[in-house]
Amino acid sequence: MKLSELLKKEGLSLSFEVFPPKTDMAFDTVKRATEEIATLNPLFMSVTYGAGGGTSRYTLDIAKNIKERYGVPTLAHLTCVSSTRETVREKIEAMRAAGIENVMALRGDIPAGVSEEERATWGYTHAVELVRELKAFGEEFCVGGACYPEVHPESENQREDIRYLREKVEAGCDFLTTQMFFDNNLFYNFLYKIREAGITVPVVPGIMPITNGNQVARAITLSGSLMPQRFKALVDKFGTSPAAMKQAGIAYATDQIIDLFANGVKNVHVYSMNKPDVAAAIRQNLSDILG
Ligand code: FAD
Repeated sequence: MKLSELLKKEGLSLSFEVFPPKTDMAFDTVKRATEEIATLNPLFMSVTYGAGGGTSRYTLDIAKNIKERYGVPTLAHLTCVSSTRETVREKIEAMRAAGIENVMALRGDIPAGVSEEERATWGYTHAVELVRELKAFGEEFCVGGACYPEVHPESENQREDIRYLREKVEAGCDFLTTQMFFDNNLFYNFLYKIREAGITVPVVPGIMPITNGNQVARAITLSGSLMPQRFKALVDKFGTSPAAMKQAGIAYATDQIIDLFANGVKNVHVYSMNKPDVAAAIRQNLSDILG
């Protein structure tokens, strides 16, 4: 089912993100973890695409498995930077053949140290080009795009970032998913600004439960997210105690999700990182809220 339709559904829901294995050997373990998450009755599940496209085959395999065995609608991610037009075209055809209806159209991060000569061989500079390419298939794909409540790290300022976001939506994005954030006010301010800029598609907030102290630095580097004082205190206090940090991180994410629901959001996307226990704990914390 297309996410554009699913997101219109009445009631509150969670969706979960998983990532594909990096090697053949890890495939079964990752597959099992994603299957456990699929049993938690999510609205949909997204499957990320490895940086540089290395694990692209597994993205499809995992997405197809969840959809076919568990009946959970899936969203397959696809990145385009550092690929040729021909390679991306092949990936899109493989998605069609696998019956994938929902695609998250991403640029991907620019690999460090890449030469100008190499860059000249790439077929894309921004995600908007991939959105256009997917939309050239008519209604075949429901297309999502990424957005950044705290501004994409490469953007000069938020106004510029939102201008390009609008261009991406006008090119055909049916919905947007946000980068993780730890302060909901950043999301509410962002939503206000993009609505004012004329962006009307559904925006799904992405929440990352931080469940171990080592994850914090990596999450901040990747996302550029600000750490509110309340969250910093929690990491300072519990960061070196794995069980306590996990409990506190799940509680913090649950609290963010409840606040989002209370303020009118219907679906929250949880960056569950192939951790069925974390996804299940959040689901359980919200059992009466989600019904
Ligand atoms: P773009 O939309 O192209 O934006 C990138 C930057 O370029 C922004 O600063 C934007 O303002 C600017 N820009 C956009 N259009 C133009 C234009 N026409 N001219 C000039 N500037 C422009 N990465 C992965 O490798 N795999 C994944 O599965 C993955 N999933 C993600 C899911 C979500 C929800 C999010 C938020 C990010 C994800 N990423 C993933 C990371 C993402 O690939 C990076 O953040 C990347 O740096 C930007 O991708 P984008 O699609 O937002 O790019």
